[in-house]
Amino acid sequence: MNKPDQNPDQTGCLYIVATPIGNLKDISYRAVEVLSKADLILVEDTRNAAKLLQHYGIKQPLKAVHEHNEDKVAAGLIALIKQGQHIALISDAGTPLVSDPGFRMVQQAQVAGVQTVAVPGACAAIAALSIAGLPTDRFVFEGFLPAKQAAREQRIQALMDEPRTLVFYEAKHRILAFLGSLQKLMGGARRASVAREITKKFESLYHGSLDEVIEQISADALAQKGEFVVMVQGAEQSVDGVSLDHVLKPLLAALSVSKASKVAAEITGIKKNICYQRALEMHEGDV
Ligand code: SAM
Repeated sequence: MNKPDQNPDQTGCLYIVATPIGNLKDISYRAVEVLSKADLILVEDTRNAAKLLQHYGIKQPLKAVHEHNEDKVAAGLIALIKQGQHIALISDAGTPLVSDPGFRMVQQAQVAGVQTVAVPGACAAIAALSIAGLPTDRFVFEGFLPAKQAAREQRIQALMDEPRTLVFYEAKHRILAFLGSLQKLMGGARRASVAREITKKFESLYHGSLDEVIEQISADALAQKGEFVVMVQGAEQSVDGVSLDHVLKPLLAALSVSKASKVAAEITGIKKNICYQRALEMHEGDV
C-alpha cells in the first residue's frame, strides 16, 4: 500500500486506530485514510466492524483478533508487517487497548522491533471527563471493576483514600449496584458524575453527590439503559477529622506553595507530594 501518512521508510507498521463511540461522524480524516489503505484491518468482531467500515466506504480485508486468539495470531501478523504489510487494528468502539483488545499485539510488535503508530480519536473515558465537572488535572482510570459484589467492593475499598478523580466503565445491568457499592463505601456525600450514551441520541449526564446521582438514575428506567462512564471525585485528605484543605488555607495566605505544603505535611503527616499537589491546586484555583 502507499504510505497513508508520515511513515517514511518502506517497512510495514502497526496502526492503532480509534473509531467512534456512538456518533459515526467522530472519526478523523487520518483514521479513514489509514484504514482505506491498510493491507489488513484487525477487528474485534468482523460483523460489527463491517457495519462501521461500510459507512466510510472501506473495503479492506478484515481479520478477527480478540482476547481469545490474540496471543496465538500475533506472531504471524507481525511477520506480515515485517514483510512490508501495513496493518491497522481497531476495536468495536473508541480507542483500542482501553478496556479493549490489542495489548498483546502492540507488546509483541515492539519486542519484534515493529513500529507502532497511534491514530488517535474518541475514547469514552476522556470524553466523559471533559464534561464531568470534576477535577481532571490528575485522574485514575479503573475500567470495569469485577461483576461480583464482594470482589467489586474490595477494589473500591482500596480506592477510598485515592485523592485523584476516579474513572470507571460500567454496564447497564450493573449500574445501580455499582453506584450502590460506591455510596456504601465512600459515603453518599462524595461528588460524582455519570455520563451515559455519550455522542448518541439519548446522551445524558447525571451529577451531584452520589446520593443525588443514584436518585436521578433510579427514578428513570430509561436512565438505566445504554453505556456508562462513572466518575467520582477523589478523597479529600484529612487526619483525625481535620482536612488538608483546612490546614493549607491559612498557610497559603502567608507562605509560598512549597513552604505551605512542607509545613502542612509536618502538621498532618500526609505525604509531602500530596500536600504539594493540593497546595498547588488551591493556589492556582484560588480555593
Ligand atoms: N475502547 C473504548 C473507549 O475508548 O472508550 C471502551 C470499550 S469498553 C469495552 C466499553 C465501555 O466503554 C462501555 O461499557 C462503557 O462503559 C464505555 N463506553 C463506550 N462508549 C460509550 C458511550 N458512548 N457513552 C458512555 N460510555 C461508553
